[in-house]
Amino acid sequence: MTELPPDMESHIERIPEAGCWIWSPATDSAGYAKARIQGVTYLAHRAVYALWYGPIPPGLVIDHLCQVKCCVNPSHLEAVTQPENVRRSHIFRRKTGYSPHIR
Ligand SMILES: [Zn+2]
Repeated sequence: MTELPPDMESHIERIPEAGCWIWSPATDSAGYAKARIQGVTYLAHRAVYALWYGPIPPGLVIDHLCQVKCCVNPSHLEAVTQPENVRRSHIFRRKTGYSPHIR
């Protein structure tokens, strides 16, 4: 697939500098975008990934390579195992100095 359905496109704002496709307006309390498709609510990045690449293999989570939780650009998404996802988030924190415990 190279294009998303128009009803999904209407939610996406493309950020040229970052290449991110920001889904709006619906995000949950954790910052993830939510998509409502045919009456069912999905995490938007999972819905876009599945449309673009096909079904997400069982047990895998979708990692944001750009670390932007509400980004749905398929080229910024990768299906990984949960332990890999956690490992990567630790690497990201080390690189940026980000820690949820320091304010
Ligand atoms: Zn992105």
